[in-house]
Amino acid sequence: MSLSVIKDRIAKAAIKAGRQPDDIKLIAVSKVQPPDRVVHVLEQGHRCFGENKVQEADGKWPEFGKSYSDLDLHLIGPLQSNKARAAMGLFDAIHTLDRPKLATAIARLAQETGICPDLFIQVNTGEEDQKSGVLPADADAFIATARNLDLPVKGLMCIPPVDEEPSLHFALLAKIAARNGLPGLSMGMSDDFERAIALGATHVRVGSAIFGARVPPA
Ligand SMILES: *Cc1c(COP(=O)(O)O)cnc(C)c1O
Repeated sequence: MSLSVIKDRIAKAAIKAGRQPDDIKLIAVSKVQPPDRVVHVLEQGHRCFGENKVQEADGKWPEFGKSYSDLDLHLIGPLQSNKARAAMGLFDAIHTLDRPKLATAIARLAQETGICPDLFIQVNTGEEDQKSGVLPADADAFIATARNLDLPVKGLMCIPPVDEEPSLHFALLAKIAARNGLPGLSMGMSDDFERAIALGATHVRVGSAIFGARVPPA
């Protein structure tokens, strides 16, 4: 598949849902992809990319940034508090705020530097042990905690369990966001972004459908 095919499918899904295609941001998830594939997408004018590791992103995006301006980089993987400073220097948005300790660390750095990326709170909608994110029952309280720290919380993010119908999880995330007055919904990946758009996704995170299967690191 390709970038243009995915953009087209996003636009069609938006229109079908009575939404504007421009209201949905496509985050091209470039983690682990070889540089030539990333350059190919950059050459087509796309600037919004997602990475799941701070260190990996730091190893490639400052270099790409020398050749391509206006990059819009999103962290979509778990963030350790001790990497918050590096992440805030590199990313325009962080989708994985999920605990008070991290919220406090980001708030302190935001005060110190005067800048803060857009933040999404990750919700563990499937209540899976191995997955990060706040539990649905704790989401309202954690959103309030983050807001009390003056953090720029723009929305919520989820990664549904692999073996369940994702739409149930997208609907739950949308419900929690709506009752908290949060406009952003980071949900939907290669296999389910159209279903996510039908349920209100504002940010879809699509990797393999754009770049091809991820090549495992040697
Ligand atoms: C890797 C990843 C994606 C993209 O997955 P694809 O199935 O390749 O589209 C989306 N979101 C998160 C959090 C990821 O880690």
